[in-house]
Amino acid sequence: MTRGRAGVELEKLEGKSHRRFNPLTRDWILVSPNRMERPWQGQTETAGDFVLPKYDPGCYLCPGNVRAEGGRNPAYSATFVFDNDFAALQPDVGDVTAQGGGGNLLLAASESGVCRVVCFSPRHDLTLARMTIGEIGGVVEVWAEQYRALGELPRIQHVQIFENRGAMMGCSNPHPHGQIWATESIPNEPRKEEESLEDYAREHHSCMLCDYAELELGAGERVVCQNESFVAVVPFWATWPFETLLLAKRHVGDIEALEAGERAGLADILKRVTTRYDNLFQTSFPYSMGFHQRPTDGKEHAEWHFHAHFLPPLLRSAAVKKFMVGFELLGSPQRDMTAEVAAERLRGVGEEHYLVRG
Ligand SMILES: [Zn+2]
Ligand SMILES: [Zn+2]
Ligand SMILES: [Zn+2]
Repeated sequence: MTRGRAGVELEKLEGKSHRRFNPLTRDWILVSPNRMERPWQGQTETAGDFVLPKYDPGCYLCPGNVRAEGGRNPAYSATFVFDNDFAALQPDVGDVTAQGGGGNLLLAASESGVCRVVCFSPRHDLTLARMTIGEIGGVVEVWAEQYRALGELPRIQHVQIFENRGAMMGCSNPHPHGQIWATESIPNEPRKEEESLEDYAREHHSCMLCDYAELELGAGERVVCQNESFVAVVPFWATWPFETLLLAKRHVGDIEALEAGERAGLADILKRVTTRYDNLFQTSFPYSMGFHQRPTDGKEHAEWHFHAHFLPPLLRSAAVKKFMVGFELLGSPQRDMTAEVAAERLRGVGEEHYLVRG
């Protein structure tokens, strides 16, 4: 398909403030390369990386420990899943709506759901970046199984798998873990993406993210790394300084539909991307990461293309983060460093983790 290969004449905008369109959310991002301070000097402040113990008796996620609500974790040796003790959603709150103000000025509706915690490893001191590809593969299997099991629940129409990493992202416990929130309705971001994917498929008779992956693989300048099944890019419309998008190379709707080789490919690319992040500022890189995939509402959803977003806040060093304030909250997000420069920086660091695993 020729459309996928069509590039963009970015040189026309070199050094000029401009805006870029995000076709997934149909939002715009303001880019100000003219504000980019000097070329990168390679100087970093370390944010005091400290060595964690392999087991922490005070951690509510470590094997064998007691959790806040009194439950005791089993002596698990690989992964461990449990219902969140302080879940944001309740399993069955019925079908209640409350309306007021004539139209929909005041509108509320009950929302049933399930919140689970997934421990990636019994080792308190590890992260995805420092786990083996085989160990991450075990986590991929758990995610696929949870996506299927939660999606089969009668009320559940969407399963959001995500990880908050680091205190900067509000994650208080360093133990490697993620969360799954399964909901009765489709949340805002995947809903926006679904509408865009549907419209694109109708207008172009092809998949937006298949076309986009082909375009980026052809252009190369925003590609961070790839394997047979996945490619990681800094998307053209990236909002966060080092945001990446991990795209399945095959048109596949959800994590459960990945074949064995693709699941291994997902584990591989997760390790490589998180390692590059850690190596960039020699710190345990904070981020929110999550998968976007086909809703579990029983419809086919041929438009969905499985992918992951990494949304990291760091800008210039382990301690200097990007703030979303002022114009960004009230107008549009803005960035100085272009997506092309961010991709080049991430390509420039190695895939051997800077910390040796004990
Ligand atoms: Zn722990
Ligand atoms: Zn596709
Ligand atoms: Zn998405």
